[in-house]
Amino acid sequence: MSVRRALFLFTLDIHGRSNLVAELAACLDELAHIGIRGTFFLPATLLNESGITAIFKRLVDEGHQLACHGLLHREPENFASDPLEVQIRNLKQAKAMIEAAIDVEVTAFRAPSFILSAETIVALEACGYKADVSVNSQRLSLISSQVGNFRWLTAPRWPYHPSRSNPYARGDLKLWEIPVTAFVLPFISTMHQALGLRFTRLFAGAMIQEAKALNHPIVYMAHPEEFYPSDYVRPRTYHFGRSAETEGLGWRLFVPKGNAGFRIRWLLYERDEHKIHRDTMEVVRFLAKRRDVEFVTVDEYLTRLEGGMASRQ
Ligand SMILES: [Zn+2]
Repeated sequence: MSVRRALFLFTLDIHGRSNLVAELAACLDELAHIGIRGTFFLPATLLNESGITAIFKRLVDEGHQLACHGLLHREPENFASDPLEVQIRNLKQAKAMIEAAIDVEVTAFRAPSFILSAETIVALEACGYKADVSVNSQRLSLISSQVGNFRWLTAPRWPYHPSRSNPYARGDLKLWEIPVTAFVLPFISTMHQALGLRFTRLFAGAMIQEAKALNHPIVYMAHPEEFYPSDYVRPRTYHFGRSAETEGLGWRLFVPKGNAGFRIRWLLYERDEHKIHRDTMEVVRFLAKRRDVEFVTVDEYLTRLEGGMASRQ
């Protein structure tokens, strides 16, 4: 008897890091070994670094999807506040850069820090993207980088065509919004760093059961560096930047800041990279072992969705 399976979108956000090529290589090795194909979101200007394209060609050759994570992933690019014409210019340039360097079609996007605006989804559609994977439906925004974004709580939890005036509501854009799986908490790799493996397995199990029952996908987010066997123990100020090393943390932890939200939550994150790596492998093996999950890229998911083989809300 065939087992009913949930389609699982394993997504990874790439960032500019000094050891990025080795970290990506370790990540690709592990994913190949375990048998997971994922979708990697790349800030396009990282391609300007010398000697970096080979690892992305390998990534695509091994059946993963390469997608866009903005042009810069830093100021002055800001998807929450940039005018439409600036967002169109940046998204068009990012898509063209990746497509020229790696010879792939870039169809999916994730906003840096999941922060976007109505202009972003209109710009994505104008630039020929097919899917945005940035909305954290039913995630409690108080524990995120967007403290005041209560629109997450009412956004549809399953793939939908968004409204051109509100990415968190259904509308008539052709673009698909594919929300990151969340229920109060988002299903992302910091979950096991903050709340442990046991909780993560229970949460994953519940989300998979629900997705199977309703014939909807699971969208998980991780980072390639979590697959790299490191012995580094991060300082307490790791996520806070240089000023925290000299000025300390204190009251600032309790005041939400710009694109960071309440920074006190960062103190919950695991700092020992050896443990992060070990636990990442545990989570990934746990997911890969499940016979009721099938890993697909965003493009493969869209093919099934539009072919009527995956249901929509
Ligand atoms: Zn990012």
